Amino acid sequence: MNDIVAIAAAAAFGAVFGSFLNVCIYRLPRSQSVVWPASACPHCGRLLAWFENIPIVSFLALRGRCRTCKGSIARRYPIVELLTAIMFAVAWWYYGPTTLLMSRLVFGSALIVLFAIDLEHHLLPNVITLPGIVAGLLFSLATEPGWLASVLGVLVGGGVLYALAEIYYRVRHEEGLGMGDVKMLAMIGAFIGWKLTLVALMLASLTGSVIGLLLIATGRGGMKHALPFGTFLALGAAAASTVGPAMLDWYLGLM
Ligand SMILES: [Zn+2]
Repeated sequence: MNDIVAIAAAAAFGAVFGSFLNVCIYRLPRSQSVVWPASACPHCGRLLAWFENIPIVSFLALRGRCRTCKGSIARRYPIVELLTAIMFAVAWWYYGPTTLLMSRLVFGSALIVLFAIDLEHHLLPNVITLPGIVAGLLFSLATEPGWLASVLGVLVGGGVLYALAEIYYRVRHEEGLGMGDVKMLAMIGAFIGWKLTLVALMLASLTGSVIGLLLIATGRGGMKHALPFGTFLALGAAAASTVGPAMLDWYLGLM
């Protein structure tokens, strides 16, 4: 019973934190402060009342529209809030009150913000990736994957992708991967270590290729319009940090 209360509390806290992540997702690409001013309707500029700021509930109650101007509220808001709530609840249930829980929540939150911003703006802000690298390294002093694997993760993650970006540029004479992707994979390396970072990169490339081919096959755009790689890196990293160790064991067992 106590467990259920604690997990519900973690979910509620996650939903509130998800609201803050939404603020980051909206304001960081626009170079606005994430702490000031208070939230307003992007259509009519009216400041939101407290009851319009309740995660998930307000969106449903308002049926996705601003109360005064009827402008539509992006579906991203309830989705991010729900996703963050689920992440907090599952992570609390799985890790309990540990340093690893803190590390995974900081990591997961960064991935959610990067995923959403890259999807919409094709941008991976330094303001997330660079402090993310530092946070991952600091956490590694006290928990998984340990400082050495973390340092190697930054070098391998950043290095491999930097080399790939360089090769692509020399061969195709256009930019395929940006420095944002390089810094993001370095951040992933800092949090989950070099081995799982390679798993994340593999999964990201695989899903990226499959979705890219599907888009071409269904005539919804060629390689040029492919989804940004950072969104796939976020998905790959989320998978690698949860089921990655089991995948590695299975793969190494085959050899
Ligand atoms: Zn409005």
